[in-house]
Amino acid sequence: MTEPARILVVGGGYVGMYTALRLQRQLRAELRAGTVEIVVVTPEPYMTYQPFLPEAAAGSISPRHVVVPLRRILDRCRILIGEVRSVDHAKRTAALSTLATEEEGTGGIELTYDELVLAPGSVSRTLPVPGLADHGIGFKTVEEAIGLRNHVIEQMDIASSTRDPALRDAALTFVFVGGGYAGVEALAELEDMARYTARYYHNVKPEDLRWVLVEASDRILPEVGEDMGRYAIRELRGRNIDVRLETRLESCEDRIAVLSDGTRLPTRTVVWTAGVKPAPVLAATDLPLNERGRLRCTAHLAVEGVEHAWAAGDAAAVPDITSGEPGKECAPNAQHAVRQAKVLAENVAASLSGRPLTEYAHAYVGSVASLGLHKGVAHVYGRKLKGYPAWFMHRAYHLSRVPTFNRKARVLAEWTLSGLFKREIVSLGSLEHPRAEFELAAAPPPADGDKPSS
Ligand SMILES: Cc1cc2nc3c(=O)[nH]c(=O)nc-3n(C[C@H](O)[C@H](O)[C@H](O)COP(=O)(O)OP(=O)(O)OC[C@H]3O[C@@H](n4cnc5c(N)ncnc54)[C@H](O)[C@@H]3O)c2cc1C
Repeated sequence: MTEPARILVVGGGYVGMYTALRLQRQLRAELRAGTVEIVVVTPEPYMTYQPFLPEAAAGSISPRHVVVPLRRILDRCRILIGEVRSVDHAKRTAALSTLATEEEGTGGIELTYDELVLAPGSVSRTLPVPGLADHGIGFKTVEEAIGLRNHVIEQMDIASSTRDPALRDAALTFVFVGGGYAGVEALAELEDMARYTARYYHNVKPEDLRWVLVEASDRILPEVGEDMGRYAIRELRGRNIDVRLETRLESCEDRIAVLSDGTRLPTRTVVWTAGVKPAPVLAATDLPLNERGRLRCTAHLAVEGVEHAWAAGDAAAVPDITSGEPGKECAPNAQHAVRQAKVLAENVAASLSGRPLTEYAHAYVGSVASLGLHKGVAHVYGRKLKGYPAWFMHRAYHLSRVPTFNRKARVLAEWTLSGLFKREIVSLGSLEHPRAEFELAAAPPPADGDKPSS
């Protein structure tokens, strides 16, 4: 019996999940006959719906509903939890590590393939800012979003119980670097949540909290256009949020954020959302990259100059054939990622059966951003909205986009319930150390000499 043709999908995010989903529908007969096999390699068994991370941080959606279980929806694919470390496309081989190879210490396995779909997305683009690696946190994963929520509430608890004014000020100062939608939405949702939470503290008032947004350029939210960006600045400043344009973070050593305008802010919270760069695995392949490290692709979403390799999403430099500008690439966002995945899957299936390929063409339609509960900005199909209508549009749009009916129903139920009842205000930071209490209980009693004298 001949081996099935193997399609290897690297990454289980927007592109990886939607490509595999469409492929398993299009190649149903081949999968059943065993002539084709789809293998998805992904570090987590779920796809993260990143636009909901700010709402997860605010507590409006629970973390489980921001993620989509891959094993359930890709039920005709093989899911391998692991990471591709390198790709030798000339030999059609990928080297990967899995949880098991790490346990066994075997140093990884090799997987051969016939078609390669590279969709490892992007990672935070950091700069060599002193102290950033030690004290900063990103905002790309559900762990970071929930960790940050717990951290903010924990800082309010510290501020409420300390007698040291310097510690209190540092605990209540929150610095966000980067004014794109990830940074602005994260800051706006967390500020909204913290302001609400402060009403349950006897000695922490909303005005005691200091929120600072640091942006290197002269505008924020470029995705919603200049007018709406200016409105967003006014809205944030109206809430006492300190928006600093044309300013950079220069250092955050010793828990002091030093800005390029000379301001020094003692703080325990530096959130870095100043852009993304392609996933590091791309540099460990023999495939062509552009000057920014994205995979060079054609409008067919095929990797340039080679056969049987495909890519899309944040990792891929896909020409934007709808713009008149020569050399313009599609921006790294979900709007393109989802649509590219559809064309990519169709082209992989077409190439397997010798049919002609389709070009990817989508003109950017604009963007919506939430600025906290009942507040937002939008610029979509040339229409500008702000305040409640924009916020409502943001929710309606993302509810229609979040994958699976199951997730839509759960998210809608949560929004409805949080409209009826009070918001959640607890920090579950101890979840990050589940053994701490048992370790304390199981530890041997202190020796006599170690006992405190009474
Ligand atoms: C907070 C936030 C809010 C956002 N809001 C919006 C929005 O409102 N609108 C919008 O259009 N876009 C938004 N985006 C951007 C959007 O989420 C991304 O553009 C989109 O996720 C890109 O899809 P992707 O498949 O290329 O990458 P991802 O969805 O990031 O998926 C990449 C996957 O590959 C996996 N991976 C990485 N390396 C490897 C490896 N070596 N081996 C195997 N797997 C690997 C990753 O773990 C991940 O699962 C937002 C992003 C963030 C962070």
